[in-house]
Amino acid sequence: MKDVHDIQAGRLSAAEIAENFSDLHPRLSQLQAAVEASRCLFCHDAPCIEACPTGIDIPGFIRKISTGNTRGAAVTILAENIMGGTCANACPVEELCEQVCVKVASEGKPVKIGRLQRYATDYLFDKGEQPFQRAKATGHKVAVVGAGPAGLACAHRLAMLGHDVEVFDARPKPGGLNEYGLAHYKMLDERAAKEVEFILGIGGITLQQGLRLGNDFSLEELRKKYHAVFLGLGHNAVNKLAMENASVPGVYDAVDFIARIRQEKRHEIPVGRRIVVIGGGNTAIDIAVQTKKLGAESVTLVYRRGRGQMGATDFEQEVAETNGVLIRAWAQPKDIHADAKGVTGVTFEYTRPGDDGHLQGTGETFELEADMVFKAIGQRFDAEDAGLDQSASLEIEYGRIMVNADRRTSIEGVYAGGDCVPGKDLTVVAVQDGKIAAHAIHKYLTERGHG
Ligand code: SF4
Repeated sequence: MKDVHDIQAGRLSAAEIAENFSDLHPRLSQLQAAVEASRCLFCHDAPCIEACPTGIDIPGFIRKISTGNTRGAAVTILAENIMGGTCANACPVEELCEQVCVKVASEGKPVKIGRLQRYATDYLFDKGEQPFQRAKATGHKVAVVGAGPAGLACAHRLAMLGHDVEVFDARPKPGGLNEYGLAHYKMLDERAAKEVEFILGIGGITLQQGLRLGNDFSLEELRKKYHAVFLGLGHNAVNKLAMENASVPGVYDAVDFIARIRQEKRHEIPVGRRIVVIGGGNTAIDIAVQTKKLGAESVTLVYRRGRGQMGATDFEQEVAETNGVLIRAWAQPKDIHADAKGVTGVTFEYTRPGDDGHLQGTGETFELEADMVFKAIGQRFDAEDAGLDQSASLEIEYGRIMVNADRRTSIEGVYAGGDCVPGKDLTVVAVQDGKIAAHAIHKYLTERGHG
């Protein structure tokens, strides 16, 4: 029998891999930014502001770019979204602000809001300047669990409002998804760290890395020691593929491998020759594109429903296809094949929507040879794994921490936001959660007169 296993590093040179992983959207030049800004109509009831989860004054910052006030533009963005730099690169703008831009109707293409946002925020980060000041110290101490987008956004706003913040994070580096979970070509290595540095630059925030809720401290301990607590715990579990051989060598969780691609020397990461990715969201696209960029010969992404139902946007799908990824829709995995060395292939069954809308297998199958298989079938929040003890009376439904409009949980003084609460799992939504919670905590502490 033919040996299908061919997982190795060095199929491409380090220089080729560096080139493959360069910036997806290089920064606009000053002239390009001025030309793009001049396309904006500065609409009175700007639909783009409505579509932005953080409510950035988009015409306001674009006007500042058009008058040469790039610093002012960056401050306008960051005042609403302290992670405006990340979001400029990672937001699905084609489904948010750019989708509703009035220029789509008149000219067939929106103002490039994301690229202009990147232009402005890069300008400020390059200067290394912190444009926000802290209010007079309040004497209140707040604990934030999780140094991802929700936690850091909350910490920055609380620090601005004069509170002292201690952030606890289980991983070796802060940044959460931005540091470990975004495809490298969307968010170059140093950007996540630079953004964290910028956020901490306001002062009043202490970071504690390598400390895990449930292992090193409990929610009850935090409640006793701090005046309020914010939980920005993110996703901490992946959905499992319930089939035999789902964990043989060569079958990986896409999120773990994406973290490796961000943290390790890319030209030293072994990659297979034939890759199969199971899933249809952005994580599936990110692993498919990046394994191709690492030197895999063929990468096939298989999704159980139609292309229009994929979690990945049309733009993401286009990026995948431009990079040589083959996307196959309407098929679900049936068997994973393996020999003594590991995975050798996957049998898929074609699917179709049944009369009741549920997916049905057609009985017809096809097989894909593979030496690496990636599972990208969704991430979730697991309260127990996150170290939340059941006795804490924290209301959890459908696997998420329940919060009110202020992002307050069922426990007084405990707030939560980001991927661990209901809502869209987007960085920009997490940032908004953190910001709203910070203002609610401020109100709570001020009214209560804690001190
Ligand atoms: Fe400018 Fe488009 Fe927003 Fe109108 S909708 S303000 S044209 S970016």
